Amino acid sequence: MGKRYFCDYCDRSFQDNLHNRKKHLNGVQHLRAKKAWYDLFRDAAAVLLEEQSKKPCRKFLQTGQCDFGFNCRFSHMTEEGLEKLNAQVQEERRSKEEGAEVPAGTVEDWLEKRAKRVSLAQSNSSLTEKTLVFQYPPGWPPIQDLPPSLQAPPPGGWPILPNLQWG
Ligand SMILES: [Zn+2]
Ligand SMILES: [Zn+2]
Repeated sequence: MGKRYFCDYCDRSFQDNLHNRKKHLNGVQHLRAKKAWYDLFRDAAAVLLEEQSKKPCRKFLQTGQCDFGFNCRFSHMTEEGLEKLNAQVQEERRSKEEGAEVPAGTVEDWLEKRAKRVSLAQSNSSLTEKTLVFQYPPGWPPIQDLPPSLQAPPPGGWPILPNLQWG
């Protein structure tokens, strides 16, 4: 017996050869099953709408089985499933609304605050200078023991050496 090809979308297997595979993968049933599979990842609202527009599949709901599977034109969704989906839709809607609920005037607020900060810094320029004094982390060795690369630049920055060449 040769290998068998199992199609996850259709939940069925068949003897694996090029002819069968081609026939199956291009078949209407397979394409519909594949679409149904990807539909599972669609917007929950769209799925809910579609499922609610279908009549429930009596066979599936009574026996838990239906030969049509994904291809069934009736809804295989149980009441519980619909409820869950509905909850998911509400949840998605809520999170979307929250995401859109950026309070108006945020940019203006930000600019206003920034302007205040800037003017405060300007009026307290002596204070800002003081806070800018370089501080070494606690526990460091004395400054003279630090390698030059770890020393704070002198006020006014490092002198630019003439003809300095980086190696
Ligand atoms: Zn298939
Ligand atoms: Zn059905």
